[in-house]
Amino acid sequence: MRLTFLGATHTVTGSKTLLTAGKKKLLVDCGLFQGQRELKERNWADLPVDPRSIDAVVLTHAHLDHSGYLPVLVKKGFRGPVYCTPATRDLCEILLVDSGHLLERDAEFANRHGYSRHKPALPLYTAEDARAALTHLRAVPFGKLFSPVEQTEAMFLPAGHILGAAMVRINDDRVSALFSGDLGRPNDPVMLEPALPPASDYLVVESTYGDRRHDTSDPEQRLADILATTATRGGTVIIPAADSAEVGRAFRLMSAT
Ligand SMILES: [Zn+2]
Repeated sequence: MRLTFLGATHTVTGSKTLLTAGKKKLLVDCGLFQGQRELKERNWADLPVDPRSIDAVVLTHAHLDHSGYLPVLVKKGFRGPVYCTPATRDLCEILLVDSGHLLERDAEFANRHGYSRHKPALPLYTAEDARAALTHLRAVPFGKLFSPVEQTEAMFLPAGHILGAAMVRINDDRVSALFSGDLGRPNDPVMLEPALPPASDYLVVESTYGDRRHDTSDPEQRLADILATTATRGGTVIIPAADSAEVGRAFRLMSAT
């Protein structure tokens, strides 16, 4: 088993780790580079591996820095299955298409106002490309063994973080590796607690916030303080919220997990 990091090194987005087991190639996560322009431009560079030669993808979770490159991979010829948990699949159905829409809108805006160096500016992918990528998703529940490529076994375990987020343990007959994905905290009022990591020969850990500790104060109390202070000053508190149809869908997703 061989690991090659194709993203999320020296930066925290673009998670993509190529795992080679025998003659098979498996990509763990397929994320977009996000942030400054120099980072976003990396999404346009060819991968050091031909997408047509990748046999399967395993996604830890739906955040775009872990899943958002999938439409490009499919556009460039990837034809295999993409394994993820059922909730990750449901969230990808919303997020990837939305990402395609936003990329199209940005390109259209750049063309209309003529500020792109590219003439015409093109979207990295479209909503239609995202829909094509979604047909590759294969949902596997937490705790169930599956074989992403020949002679390997894999299992998703809860990682907290967001709905459907998983660690994934992958092994062949000789060696095992555990990919943490992004990890949540224990005692979250909504999310499952991260599972205890099973024994593995290698551990690949996301460390985006590895240099910080969680604030120990009670978030509900902090929110109450902010509301009280703002109300006393006669100010306004703006809380981002989805419309009721989206909230309803999110609740249905949560209760299905
Ligand atoms: Zn994440």
